[in-house]
Amino acid sequence: MPDTVLRTIVDATGKRRVLILQRANGTFGFEVEHRGDNPMERGWIRDGQHPLSVCGSAEVALREATGRVEWLAGALDLVLETAIDYDEVFRRGGRNLGDEDFALFKCPSCARVYLIDYEVDTIYLDADDLSRRTDASPGSFACVACGYTFRADEPIIGPKADRKFTVTWADLARTVRWSISGVCLLIGD
Ligand SMILES: [Zn+2]
Repeated sequence: MPDTVLRTIVDATGKRRVLILQRANGTFGFEVEHRGDNPMERGWIRDGQHPLSVCGSAEVALREATGRVEWLAGALDLVLETAIDYDEVFRRGGRNLGDEDFALFKCPSCARVYLIDYEVDTIYLDADDLSRRTDASPGSFACVACGYTFRADEPIIGPKADRKFTVTWADLARTVRWSISGVCLLIGD
């Protein structure tokens, strides 16, 4: 039985794609393919196997692929940590203890976007007032907009985080008070 393709994500050039698939043995994984320029190369050519991408679900396979395939985050419209302008955050009073590592996550219930300094587990609640912060102790944080309680056993950032917490540029565009200059961004609601 051949692999079943569950999802196909093509890059902006239309010449590369990632396949999320279910393998004949029931596990999930991904493959990367490119379209050859050579007229003799017809159709899609696989960029070598990813046999190690043996995942428990299609969701996990997609996360694995996002971590390994550079262009995929862009194709999925994900906002990467590298898009956060630290200077801009600091200029607005967002400095914390001097070893900040910022990331974004969103409330899966109402899609409100938050900034977190995961070095010290501090969540910034308000783009207009970066002094408004809260402790991000697992299980203790509830969305200030809708009350959704984040569970202690669910990572909200990083490669293990579920996609429901992942921020896309579309999420940012939906928020009114987002400030974006270049690729810089700050949270708002
Ligand atoms: Zn919420």
